[in-house]
Amino acid sequence: MSLSKTTLGPFELYTIETGDIKLDGGAMFGVVPKTLWSRGIPADEKNRIPMTMRCLLIKSNNTGKIYLVDNGAGTKFNEKMENIYQLDYSDKNIHKSLKTHGFSEEDISDIIFTHLHFDHCGGTTYYDEQGHIQFTFPNATYHVTKTHWKSATDPNAREKASFINDNIEPLSGSEVLHFVDGEHEYEPGLSTILANGHTIGQQLPKIEADGKTLIFVADLLPTHVHVPLPWVMGYDMYPVQTLTEKDAFLKQAAEKDWKLYLEHDVKHEVITITYDGRKFKVKDFLKLSDL
Ligand SMILES: [Zn+2]
Repeated sequence: MSLSKTTLGPFELYTIETGDIKLDGGAMFGVVPKTLWSRGIPADEKNRIPMTMRCLLIKSNNTGKIYLVDNGAGTKFNEKMENIYQLDYSDKNIHKSLKTHGFSEEDISDIIFTHLHFDHCGGTTYYDEQGHIQFTFPNATYHVTKTHWKSATDPNAREKASFINDNIEPLSGSEVLHFVDGEHEYEPGLSTILANGHTIGQQLPKIEADGKTLIFVADLLPTHVHVPLPWVMGYDMYPVQTLTEKDAFLKQAAEKDWKLYLEHDVKHEVITITYDGRKFKVKDFLKLSDL
C-alpha cells in the first residue's frame, strides 16, 4: 500500500486507500473502442479493468475538523458480489490507512460525499457480528448535495444498480446527514465544484492554500486515461453534459496548474494537465508528497 501526505497552508492532506475493485472496461470508457482504451488499461479475461478507491483525509488546523472525502465500497458484500467486482482489501483498507497516518474512525468529524454510488460511500456502514448495520465513523457529520440525495433516493432504472440501500438508508432522516446547496464553502480554503454529467449533484472538493489548488476529481475524471475529452464513461447519466463540464474544467486545470487527485487510478495519485488549444494531455504524474 502506498500512502502519501502533504501540507497545504492550514490543511494536512493524507492519502486514504480503501481497497481495489474491478469494473467493466467497456462501461468505463463509453464509446471509445476497446482497441484504444485497452492500451491505457488492459482488461482481464472478463473484460474488467483494475481500479482503486482512493479517498482523501483533510485535517484543518484552522477549525480542528478532520474531513474524509468518500469512503470506498465498504465490506457489506456477499461472496457473489465480491467476485463480480473482485473487491480486494488484503493490502489496502480504510482502517489500515487511517492507522498508518495516526488516525482512527472516531477522529473523523466530517464525511464529504462526492456522490453516493456504492464505490464512494459503502464504507459509511458495516454489519456487526449480529448482522446489524453500524456506522463506521461514529462522530461524523455526512455532507451530500441536496440534488444528489434526491436522485440517489429515487433513482432511474439506469442508475439504480449504483445505489445500495444499506449505504444510504441509515443516513435518511438522521441528524448526522447534512445537505449542501450547490457549490459550497466548508471553510475558507475548502470549497466544492459541481459536476452533474456523471450523476446529478456530484461535488468535487477543492483545496486552495499556499498558492496551490488540489481538486478531488472523483468521477469527472476517474483515471489519467480519461483525460482526452471524448473518453467519457458509459456509466455517466448525461455524457454530453460531462463533455461540456470536462472541457471547461480541464481548460482551467491546464491554465491554473491545478493538481488533480485521482480516486480510481491504480497507478497514479495526482496529475496535472496541458492543453495545446486542441487536446488535453497529462503533464506530470505526482504524489501528494510532491506538492
Ligand atoms: Zn460514480
